[in-house]
Amino acid sequence: DASPTTPLSAPAGASRDDELGAPLVELRGVNKHFGDLHVLKDVDLTVRRGEVLVVIGPSGSGKSTLCRAINRLETIDTGTIVIDGEPLPEEGKALARLRSDVGMVFQSFNLFAHKTILDNVTLGPLKVRRMKSADAKKEALALLDRVGIGNQADKMPAQLSGGQQQRVAIARALAMHPKVMLFDEPTSALDPEMINEVLDVMVALAKEGMTMIVVTHEMGFARKAAHRVVFMADGQIVEEAPPEEFFTNPQSHRAQDFLSKIL
Ligand code: ADP
Ligand code: MG
Repeated sequence: DASPTTPLSAPAGASRDDELGAPLVELRGVNKHFGDLHVLKDVDLTVRRGEVLVVIGPSGSGKSTLCRAINRLETIDTGTIVIDGEPLPEEGKALARLRSDVGMVFQSFNLFAHKTILDNVTLGPLKVRRMKSADAKKEALALLDRVGIGNQADKMPAQLSGGQQQRVAIARALAMHPKVMLFDEPTSALDPEMINEVLDVMVALAKEGMTMIVVTHEMGFARKAAHRVVFMADGQIVEEAPPEEFFTNPQSHRAQDFLSKIL
């Protein structure tokens, strides 16, 4: 009985997968080259509605390229990527719509330096969603509150800490009402004392049922929030398992080797 509306309170012992909905992001046979470099090799991946997927793997294994392909910031050579039943559009209005369906948070916060925090969050809703100014502002303030910076709305990005800026970046993505959120190493540029304030926002989002693909090496986050961990190496998905299983009993030699270096 795994309907999309199944509540989070699955009976003890039941697989957490029971709480997940239908496939939302589907990659089939995805290949990507940069010149001679084969960076995504026949990648097959399905992420279901409400699922939190953590992607982990060595530097250069193709994690960022995978995220960027899902948001069509990179094209792919062969294969298909389907979001909520629709193949990724090539261009135009459909592509703009896709970009609002797929929110992305990068390692560098990428806020507009010369706009206030509030304007950073309202820009997309005003331009792409064509919201009324007062409505966009009201919603943006609510989102900023939710990520714990409602009182900083009139400041400029440079006046905020890295952790605060990254939370603004999350609020900005949420303002587009995405179907799925991609996070590409969202805490790896942060000072250690700011990592948790960002992870806490992400955990809360996961608990609310947001579909998330998160590239991170933060095992605490994976253990708390992920349904599944995917381990990538050399452009391939080498292994996937629930977090406890992956971290305590990795099957492949490469995953064992990788974990021995980061643990
Ligand atoms: P990861 O995020 O796992 O560190 P990336 O997806 O960033 O890996 O990169 C995968 C490989 O593709 C790396 O070898 C990287 O140098 C290469 N690469 C990424 N982007 C480009 C690009 N725009 N042009 C050429 N090579 C690239
Ligand atoms: Mg990367």
